[in-house]
Amino acid sequence: MDLKERIGQITRERFGLPPEQCGDRQLYEALLVLTRNLTQERPAPGGERKLYYFSAEFLVGKLLDNNLLALGLRDQVRELLASWGHDLNAVEEQEPEPSLGNGGLGRLAACFLDSIAALGLRGDGVGLCYHYGLFRQKFEDNKQKETPDPWMEAESWLIPTGKRYTVSFGGFDLTARLWDAAVPGAYNDKANRLHLFDVEEPAPPPENGIDFDKTDIARHLTSFLYPDDADEAGRLLRVYQQYFMVSAGAQLILEELEERGYGPESLAEHTAVQINDTHPSMVIPELIRLLTERGLTMDQAVDQVSRTCAYTNHTILAEALEKWPLAFIEKAAPRLVPVIRELDRRVREACPDPAAAILDEKNLVHMAHMDIHYGYSVNGVAALHTEILKKAELKRFYDLYPRKFNNKTNGVTLRRWLEACNPDLTALIDQCIGPGWRQDPGRLVGLMDFMDNDRVLERLLVVKQNAKERFCRQLREAQGIDLDPTSIFDVQIKRLHEYKRQQMNALYIVQKYLDIKAGRIPERPITVLFGAKAAPAYVMAKHIIHLILCLQELIENDPVVRPWLRVAMIENYNVTWAERLIPAADISEQISLASKEASGTGNMKLMANGAVTLGTMDGANVEIAELVGPGNIYTFGAHSDRVIHLYDDKGGERYRALDYYHTPRVERLVDFLLSPELLELGDAKDLAALWRDIKGKDWFMALLDLEEYISVKDLAVRQYGDRKAWARKMLVNIAKSGYFSSDRTIKQYNEDIWRL
Ligand SMILES: *Cc1c(COP(=O)(O)O)cnc(C)c1O
Repeated sequence: MDLKERIGQITRERFGLPPEQCGDRQLYEALLVLTRNLTQERPAPGGERKLYYFSAEFLVGKLLDNNLLALGLRDQVRELLASWGHDLNAVEEQEPEPSLGNGGLGRLAACFLDSIAALGLRGDGVGLCYHYGLFRQKFEDNKQKETPDPWMEAESWLIPTGKRYTVSFGGFDLTARLWDAAVPGAYNDKANRLHLFDVEEPAPPPENGIDFDKTDIARHLTSFLYPDDADEAGRLLRVYQQYFMVSAGAQLILEELEERGYGPESLAEHTAVQINDTHPSMVIPELIRLLTERGLTMDQAVDQVSRTCAYTNHTILAEALEKWPLAFIEKAAPRLVPVIRELDRRVREACPDPAAAILDEKNLVHMAHMDIHYGYSVNGVAALHTEILKKAELKRFYDLYPRKFNNKTNGVTLRRWLEACNPDLTALIDQCIGPGWRQDPGRLVGLMDFMDNDRVLERLLVVKQNAKERFCRQLREAQGIDLDPTSIFDVQIKRLHEYKRQQMNALYIVQKYLDIKAGRIPERPITVLFGAKAAPAYVMAKHIIHLILCLQELIENDPVVRPWLRVAMIENYNVTWAERLIPAADISEQISLASKEASGTGNMKLMANGAVTLGTMDGANVEIAELVGPGNIYTFGAHSDRVIHLYDDKGGERYRALDYYHTPRVERLVDFLLSPELLELGDAKDLAALWRDIKGKDWFMALLDLEEYISVKDLAVRQYGDRKAWARKMLVNIAKSGYFSSDRTIKQYNEDIWRL
């Protein structure tokens, strides 16, 4: 049966209509069912050792386009739909974006699954099936409002497996029900699985924002990702979630091991478990517990698990390294307490440094310490990040286990982040260097041969211009904002966090606003675009969103400033918006305080789409700078060594925001937060709190780098005017982005860690 007949069969069965008479919604459902069936039928890749990638988040994005691409059906389907008078893009609009993740870490896990499958490796994801995601973001009164983000419809990518596992908490049991989503390999006829565990009787969405009864574990365990941990019930719920995920996952692993015909004593030989950040760390004691239940001695179980599990560290922010009170684990996972105590005892016996223990004197369980002692690999996610782990944050562990530490610089799948989201650029690349870069992204450097080809440079500018116009249409439809596509698009899209320093970008906007008011017009119109969600309990992050939205309104209503400067904050920034905006970006803002951004992956996506980075020497920006060379990136700011020194009590050189505030230029910008024009639009209390914080504390040192940031950004805006020179910068960035393909990253994980 050919494709047309198969689609027709589905639409007739479901809607009693031939496809020609179906609407976008019906065609979407038909394509979903077809694609789901085709991917579901695919066998798993072969291999003696199987990987399980455990992660609290998988920010997969919409899947129809991705899966059609992997099945090699995308062009055919597009043509068929066109012959019926439909546009594939419009049909894809029908798909809700799965809300299974939050930011970079979750998106990384999704890129990794895509690459693992594309490379034909045997590896499944393991996570939770959140019903309402992190939250859906709305703006009201220039503030973020959170509502549930439901995405599971009657027809979705989820395949019921019929598998169920019992998870025993303290005092009650819950059944974990397993859903799968297929992950088809792009260059083969195999598919892996994303395993998502859910409760049996999930609660309906809360009616009042995202408030719900956090003690109703049985019904709310899988309602939200990262429930508000401002109170104890929220923190406890997170521990329940984590144990639910890893206990069901560990049972699945041992069941599959047995099905493959191997005994528990050969777990390590046939299994690799990658622990993505510390949320799944309890998989270590849980696997040990289950192995001892199956007859292994404690020594044997510890030995097997220590050769099975590997840990990825994602941050050096101290507050993000999880430490759970043992009392929480006693409630949520009482059977793990004796195991954790035994693991701690062994560590103390072997290693006298109490700071390396698992249980500290306050009876907090240090999840990362457990991972490092009982995992066989510890990796950072960019060269600089791994060096900082070895030299500073995890030095005592590096001294203990130098051979465990390794770097795996992050990557992104260029299938989604170039081929699918930017077909015009893809076509141009194909015309220049042929299609071989898809399976060998290093070949993108072939574009360097076109540095002096005026036709290619001009086409590149046209592709970018068209993408900007397309984005303007999409934003107009979604939010009623009408942007100027001839302005320079300066883009900062990422979770809102003080270390990422959106506040510094906001102060740049204030500078430009005051300049224009004083008659100093910029070289050309600038549009500053933001996309960011703030964690619901992160007060300062919400104040920064408030500031940006107030600036947006202020400028929108100012006929003098508006032609030269615009601010637009995208509501509910997610993967779908990223795919729309990234092809349209001219400048990629990567301005975190040096040493704080472990890697970043947005920087890689933007680079691959011809945006030029304006950034600090932080995370993978360092590697981007090395690859593209100084003429093709704008860098600024204090270096990580200096920043680490400024945090240090010892040198007596500690950072004091007030010293930087008291310079004429900076003071004027910060004080603008309390200006009459802003107070008229905003909440005086919130703006004052932000003002006080920046002036008196500024923990992530925005004022330290502010002046240099402003002048380097002005330089970029000026140099944008030399269109041919700018097009060359774009071309170099695209050419060098092949290194940041997650296919490269996954090959390295496999060679150095997994050995599948
Ligand atoms: C890539 C991506 C991120 C990560 O961005 P960073 O700039 O690396 O923090 C976050 N959210 C979404 C939706 C993404 O696609």
